[in-house]
This record gives sequence, structure tokens and C-alpha cells, in this order.
Amino acid sequence: MGKTIRENWNKDSSEIFERFAAGIDEAIGNGEELKCADRDLQYGIRLQNRRIGKLGLNFYYELTPRGYFTDGLNLGNHWSDGHYVNRLEVRGCERVQSIYQGDRKLFKKKEKVKLYQTVTDVRSGQDVSEDEYICPDCGAATKIGLLTQGCPYCGNRFRMDELYPKISNYYFYPDVGGTRTELAKLAIPSILIAIVLIYLPFCAFGLLGIAFNSIGFAIGSNSYQTMQSMGNFIGILIWGIFVALFFGVIGGWVFTSFVYLFRLGSFAAQRIPMAKYLGCQKQFEEFIKKSSPEFSYEFFAGKTVNMIKMLIFSENPEELPFYNGRALNPAFRNIVDVTSMGAVGITKMEFQNGYAVIYADVYLEDTYYRDGKVKRVNEVMTVIMRKNIERPVDMRFKITSIHCPTCAGSFDATKNKFCPYCGNPYRMEDLDWSVEYLDYLQK
Ligand SMILES: [Zn+2]
Ligand SMILES: [Zn+2]
Repeated sequence: MGKTIRENWNKDSSEIFERFAAGIDEAIGNGEELKCADRDLQYGIRLQNRRIGKLGLNFYYELTPRGYFTDGLNLGNHWSDGHYVNRLEVRGCERVQSIYQGDRKLFKKKEKVKLYQTVTDVRSGQDVSEDEYICPDCGAATKIGLLTQGCPYCGNRFRMDELYPKISNYYFYPDVGGTRTELAKLAIPSILIAIVLIYLPFCAFGLLGIAFNSIGFAIGSNSYQTMQSMGNFIGILIWGIFVALFFGVIGGWVFTSFVYLFRLGSFAAQRIPMAKYLGCQKQFEEFIKKSSPEFSYEFFAGKTVNMIKMLIFSENPEELPFYNGRALNPAFRNIVDVTSMGAVGITKMEFQNGYAVIYADVYLEDTYYRDGKVKRVNEVMTVIMRKNIERPVDMRFKITSIHCPTCAGSFDATKNKFCPYCGNPYRMEDLDWSVEYLDYLQK
């Protein structure tokens, strides 16, 4: 490998994407607080950290930036409501994942991945001082305007940039595409080889002609004719350069594109038969957009994977506020890492008394620890989710601070199954998506 620009992500960067990328390793591995993540995401990361600790493992993610993609750092994917905006950002990196037990290395894999982050921010020009926020220090629900002056419960003051933006979700996708530098590494030699290959016949023909003519000249044939055909052959040599350059560049690019298309195609075909889901996905999107015009499938898929991760990593999934199903598959307790393969495919959609019930196949790459060994497996899980369709999608919904539908009090749903103020139970599917079933796909 030549010298590529390899600046590492910086924990003190002014960009929240970088701060998150630089801190995620220690957050999962050592349980360090990741301040740029929102409370729900911190909660999910803590669950994974505890799982790793419970199995007695040490976990490392070494992330090295690979540069931006041609589609840029911003996917143009925005999702906003009156006060807030969610923005999906992606950058490429090389990820070295290693898992140890004491000094014993159980697993190490280096690969190219794309890191996605959902950045939640205040829309510019919006006054959010009256909006509720959970104090980052004491966890009490209060107003943003009060937090910036000093929390009424713990007295700590926060700058606005400590409250927003926050990362509300993140995930890795395997990366089969390339950065500009990587593309150039394949394209430039392909073009050069194509130029040489095209020029070779011209060159051979021209040179041979000149050679034969020289012999003819030497044995004294018509000198005028010889000179003329000599000129023709020199013309072929020069003209060949232009032809070879022109078709060589085109040919080299076509070849490079084919290589990338082939990689992409074989990747998708091997792992994700997406075509079978596309019909349902469109139908689902159109339906949800009736009550939530801002709905974005990308965010929905990211959120689904995030909920699945929490269910997998939780030691008591029944206690997770969004889960209303039977006991989960005990094999989940051996999972130490989950990577989304980039597909949440809807297979079925049903309507029952004002609720939408969604069946989806989720493609994951799960890392298991079992009998002293670590193994990574590609697998598909089936998830069934439910949501009240009369309520629009609430993009700021947090399980760590929900509002009681009966008395409007706000509390942390990861700690309470009932509202601590009025004692009423709440139905998560009336507030956001709830999960009713999660297991491996039954074939
Ligand atoms: Zn406080
Ligand atoms: Zn209540």
C-alpha cells in the first residue's frame, strides 16, 4: 500500500461525526461515556458493553478514516419536524475488530466498512428553550432554557452545544465500493494497459511496413513509391497513438466499472435478495407517509436494527419498554456484536384495529462467543413490529424519556413499566414502534 492520507479521527474535533467515531471504541470496550451520543444510544451501547464484560472479553474497534465517497459526506437525507432535523451522514473507514480473553486473541478481522451516523440537531433559527430535555447530569426532565441557566434540580449549567447536536443512531455497513483513490488505483493501470494493447497492432503493422520498405529501398525498387508507402506506415504509427489513447481511456474505464459492478452485484446477490422485498417496501412507505409525510425508510431501517441490537444485548429483554414478546432465543446471549448488512426487508403488512403490524427480514452479521471461540455469521432474523397508525412518527421519541399518555408526566421507560406519577401502564405501540417477535428466520 502506498502512502494514503490517514489522519485519525479526533476526539476533540469540532465535528460531531468525528468525535463519535473516535469515541465508539472505548464506549463499547471500556464503558466510557460517549457524550456526543443521546441517552437512548448511550443506553444501547452500555448494554453491549455489559454483555462483553459478562462474557469476560475485551473488545476493540480500530477505525481509520478512508476518505469521503463520491456521494459526499452528506447523503442529502434529512428528516425534520418543526424544531429538529435528523441528518444521515456516512464516511468510509477501515475497521479492525479484535476480541481478546485476557492475553489470548480470539478474533481479528480487518475490513472496509461505511460508518453511518444519525445526527439530531436543532433547525437553524428555531427557539427550543421551551422544549423538554433530560438533564445530562441528574436525569431530571426540565426545559432547555432552564438547563442553559442552570438545572433546577442539580444546578449544573450546560452550553447549548452540549445539548445539541447529538448522535441518535449509528451503524456499520460492509463497503464494496471504493473511495476515489482506490478507484484510481484500479482505473489508471487498466487505462494504461488498454492503451498499450490497442497500440500494439498499429505499432507492429507500422514497424513491419517500415522494415519491409527499407529492404525494398536497399534492393533499389522505385524510390518514389517506397518513400510514399514509408510515409503511410509512419502515419499509421502516429495515428495509432491517438486511436489507442482515445479507446484506451474508454476501455480502461469500462473495465473498472465492470469490476465494481461485479463486486457490488455478487455482494448483493450472495447476501441480500432485495428484489423480493421491494414491492412491500414501497407499499409500506406510501402507507406510513399518509400519517407521517416526513417518513424516511433509511431512518426506519436504522431504528429497527438499533432496537434489535438492544434486544440482543439486553440481559432482561422482557424489561425493555418496547418489547412485548415471549422470552427471546437463548442463543442471543452469546452475541457480542451486530452489524447490519444494510437490509430491512418488509415481507408482510397487516392492519388490526388501528395498528399496523409489520413483518420484516433483517440481514445481520452477528459475532458470537461460544465455548472459548469467537465466530462471525451472516444470518437473517425475522422481526414483527406494531405501531398505532393514528399517531404520526415522532422523530424525537426516546425510550429514556417518554411521556405518559394518561398524565403527560415524563419518565425513563428503561426503568419503569408503569408511569411513576399516575401508576398507569403505557402501551409502547401507542407512542412508537414496539417489537412483538424476534428470532432467526425459519426456513
Ligand atoms: Zn440536572
Ligand atoms: Zn402518568
